[in-house]
Amino acid sequence: MKNNLPLLAVLGMLAIGCNESARQVADNTDASAATTAAADSALLQPALQSITAADILSRTTVLASDAFEGRAPGSIGEDSTVNYLTRQFKKMGLQPGNPDGTYVQNVPLVGFTAQPKASFEAGGKVIKLNFPTDYVALTKRFVPEIDINNSDMVFVGYGIVAPEYGWDDYKDVDVKGKTIVMLINDPAIPDPNNSSQLDSSMFGGKAMTYYGRWTYKYEIAAEKGAAAAVIIHETGPAGYPYEVISGSHSRENFDINMPNKNMDRAKVEAWITTEKAKELFSAAGKDFQQLKQAALQKDFKPIPLNAKANFSIQNKLREIQSKNVVAKLEGADPKLKDEYVVYSAHWDHLGKDPSLKGDQIYNGALDNATGTAGLLELAEAYTRLPQKPKRSILFLAVTGEEKGLLGSKYYATNPLYPLNKTLADINMDVLNAYGPTEDVTVIGYGNSTLEDVLAQEAKKQNRHIVPESSPENGGFYRSDHFEFAKQGVPALYAESGVVARNQPADYVQKWQENYTANDYHKLSDEVRDDWNLEGAVEDLKLFFRVGYRVANTPKYPQWKEGTEFKARREASLAAADSTKTAVK
Ligand SMILES: [Zn+2]
Repeated sequence: MKNNLPLLAVLGMLAIGCNESARQVADNTDASAATTAAADSALLQPALQSITAADILSRTTVLASDAFEGRAPGSIGEDSTVNYLTRQFKKMGLQPGNPDGTYVQNVPLVGFTAQPKASFEAGGKVIKLNFPTDYVALTKRFVPEIDINNSDMVFVGYGIVAPEYGWDDYKDVDVKGKTIVMLINDPAIPDPNNSSQLDSSMFGGKAMTYYGRWTYKYEIAAEKGAAAAVIIHETGPAGYPYEVISGSHSRENFDINMPNKNMDRAKVEAWITTEKAKELFSAAGKDFQQLKQAALQKDFKPIPLNAKANFSIQNKLREIQSKNVVAKLEGADPKLKDEYVVYSAHWDHLGKDPSLKGDQIYNGALDNATGTAGLLELAEAYTRLPQKPKRSILFLAVTGEEKGLLGSKYYATNPLYPLNKTLADINMDVLNAYGPTEDVTVIGYGNSTLEDVLAQEAKKQNRHIVPESSPENGGFYRSDHFEFAKQGVPALYAESGVVARNQPADYVQKWQENYTANDYHKLSDEVRDDWNLEGAVEDLKLFFRVGYRVANTPKYPQWKEGTEFKARREASLAAADSTKTAVK
């Protein structure tokens, strides 16, 4: 549908309540007409102008304050956070997001604190392992203790079974009851025609596929019946330093409280440092670099290490109810208000560590008090629209992201509204505190048509979209939108780009490297005086525009050809169609 109504006509109709025309303008997907852009901007102005750096900062300051104790699920900090978010949503006049009339969705979790002991034996040598500096280990099984004695160790390369690439690291080798040792990420296979590049037909080339994620590796290890699964940490391929892992594993961890008590998981899920892996391999008469080379070959077969592993884990368990917080803006169109656009951000962070001297609180200011503040800003902005969008909007603050995307996983597997009526999830995790950028980074570039909408809307800000610079880090699998994607819902995860306006070329890169190295998941992730939140304001305005347009456009966003989520979505939409036919 085309519409080139002049601005004044549109504003006139709005004034006399001719909503249909306003909607037609929003429906117009041809962004070329300046009049359309102007009209649309005029409509959105009250909403867009309500998004400010001062608001983001004040909301972030509340969420990241010491009083919120680092927002750990199941802590006093959770109560404060849930109460704060609920109060804010109510104050804005948004409806409860749960059909039961509340602003929360209970998420039953199990908290477990593992006290592990471990050692390896190879070539007559005992390799001592100190927790958590050399290794971390936990059990996902809801049991008070786990013992593994003298378990045979096997190197399984990347530990991947990927039929679409004709890849099977396990071949016919039985690893039942054994301790498997594997590499992080997926194989970086050189292009046979150009050895300076990666083969783009294998495991997404430079980009990480889900096969590269540690979550996948533990899942397949369980399927294969391994007793213990040990991942070798390497900073480059993992995308983060070892301290990120040792920090998160030495505290209480959580999982969704599954009826089967996770007895189908491997007994032990562990990581070791590169140094300890090298020590193990050399004691077993192997060379780490050679093993890594072998693992890049399709004909790789598991390599027995002639080594034994011992694990003993004391596991302290407790059941808790954590909560997702959810608010709803009901759509204006009676025919479409049962369809949804979701904005998500995780409210949780790492909590506090009483064993530390001095500062004990992981305030998680950027991660993700800013994203949660952004969610509130977007929610408020939607309430300022003179005309609500056709479809409904959900504002979902999820718990347990830092514990493995648990709140979003729970929502996506126990949705409050049908996922085949959910058009998109737009996720925020860590907003920009380094100022406006000329570009917008899309994490998981090429995945869905949402990025085409993003590109068109970004143009209105004189910005353009770019792929993430390190797709090999698997960023797309590392925040809450992924749980929606896994269930087929198109998901957008975008953030400020890499070229800051009026700054040196490497300004953003340096800023981000500094954040990752010094503050990410550390005590020092606190609110800073030198933050510039104007880039975050621009991003939020952009996310507002994208969500608004999706909520008004007839066509559903789609996964692009070749994505691992497309088939899932099509099956889910087809199922919805057949129910419709059956009802008729
Ligand atoms: Zn985060």
